[in-house]
Amino acid sequence: MKNAPIPEIWFITGSQHLYGEGPLKQVAANSQKIVDELNATKRLPLKLVFKPILTRPEEIRALCLEANGAQNCAGLVLWMHTFSPSKMWIGGLSLLKKPMLHLHTQFNRDLPWSEIDMDFMNLNQAAHGDREHGFIHARLRTQRKVVVGHWSDEQAQDRIGAWMRVTRAWHDWQGGKFVRFGDNMRYVAVTEGDKVSAEAKLGFSVNYHGVGDLVQAMNDISDSAVTKLCAEYEQLYTVADGLKKNGERHESLRYVARQELGLRAFLENGNFLGFTDTFEDLHGLKQLPGIATQRLMADGYGFGGEGDWKTCALVRAMKVIAADLPGGTSFMEDYTYDLNPKGHLVLGSHMLEICPSIASGKPKVEIHPLGIGGKEDPVRLVFDAPAGPAINAAIMDLGNRFRLLVNEVDVIAPPQPLPKLPVARAVWKCRPDFKTACAAWIYAGGAHHTGFSYSVTTEHMEDFAEIAGIELAIIDADTRLRGFKQDLRNNEIYYHLAPGLGRL
Ligand code: MN
Repeated sequence: MKNAPIPEIWFITGSQHLYGEGPLKQVAANSQKIVDELNATKRLPLKLVFKPILTRPEEIRALCLEANGAQNCAGLVLWMHTFSPSKMWIGGLSLLKKPMLHLHTQFNRDLPWSEIDMDFMNLNQAAHGDREHGFIHARLRTQRKVVVGHWSDEQAQDRIGAWMRVTRAWHDWQGGKFVRFGDNMRYVAVTEGDKVSAEAKLGFSVNYHGVGDLVQAMNDISDSAVTKLCAEYEQLYTVADGLKKNGERHESLRYVARQELGLRAFLENGNFLGFTDTFEDLHGLKQLPGIATQRLMADGYGFGGEGDWKTCALVRAMKVIAADLPGGTSFMEDYTYDLNPKGHLVLGSHMLEICPSIASGKPKVEIHPLGIGGKEDPVRLVFDAPAGPAINAAIMDLGNRFRLLVNEVDVIAPPQPLPKLPVARAVWKCRPDFKTACAAWIYAGGAHHTGFSYSVTTEHMEDFAEIAGIELAIIDADTRLRGFKQDLRNNEIYYHLAPGLGRL
């Protein structure tokens, strides 16, 4: 993923001075070895950086402030090799703004039954040192992920790896910029939201540009660049005959190539992470961007249709989480259903803008009327999404908080061909079942727009909500409607009280 920097994670080991210099040297050496070995596994997506062990409140405070200011630090892994009295940590942790993972491990894997003596006992105390540390996190209501297991345990490594991906996405959001061409679709409620709250809480800003600014960027693109991109389309995709070079509608393809190049230049020049547009505000554009949006999403940009800036930011975050993982991630909308009693299905799609990272084969480039917006026919990539487990995630502004909602789904190959459907699509079954999932989604006020991904997991979303300090509601194989409704009610109370508890 080219347009997201790769930050690092600091590895912090706590101890105290009670044990003398020898054991502290050993603590530092052991900690360094763990960092080296973890980096060597290649299982972690971000580099761990060893930091000198911390034994005094002044050092802890200085380290936390340094982490806050370090541009390239996306988070901290904390581990207490020995006991490290946690009142020493209050000052530093209270100031720390970066995500934390509390790794509950120990240096030795096996207990040396025949050798163990009191020196060993003094040196290897994570079993109780990490408990003291966990208390101060709980007491300060600190966000964190707790991972338990020996550092060589691949399951534990994968928990750390999942969290690292999420810290990268969070890091990307902080100070990140999203651009909206026009406002959101008139009268629509769920795509509204408080952009001031979003920036204060989630770190990214959302600002608007007139669509004329985009038109200008398109006009600045050279004819030769347009010709080159059209050739690339013909190479990468199955382009409909009329759209090909010398075809009767080739000018439409040239127009969307110009649109893509103009949009790309606008995003690159403004350092934007994603964009929204709306078919209600296309002044100066001949077509709603279709293939342009699809291909920009495939390059990692966030997108939300109809001015949906929250879904745009979410799609971007999911793209960063998923970077270099198999699968794909797209903007999505629950479009229409198959309510056959033998098994209810959702057909997910959008007017145009589904990301080809989820295409199961070579996409087709086609041109069809949009049937909405009254503009010229837009060019789009058409394809089916492959079978496999995936998630749909949505983020809503409930007035006093943001709610992140996740439904685990199983994508299937479309049971029949869809020869007349001129848009990319995915067909899925919901977990635990269609009726429970849809009712839960609707009780939760879930948006019709989602971030849809084969690569991002519920664990990632859980870590993301924890770091962001926002509500998370999950609809999965274990969801029962009565309990789900009660969880939503409980959350109303929690998120009303949590600021007074020092959390959020
Ligand atoms: Mn839509």
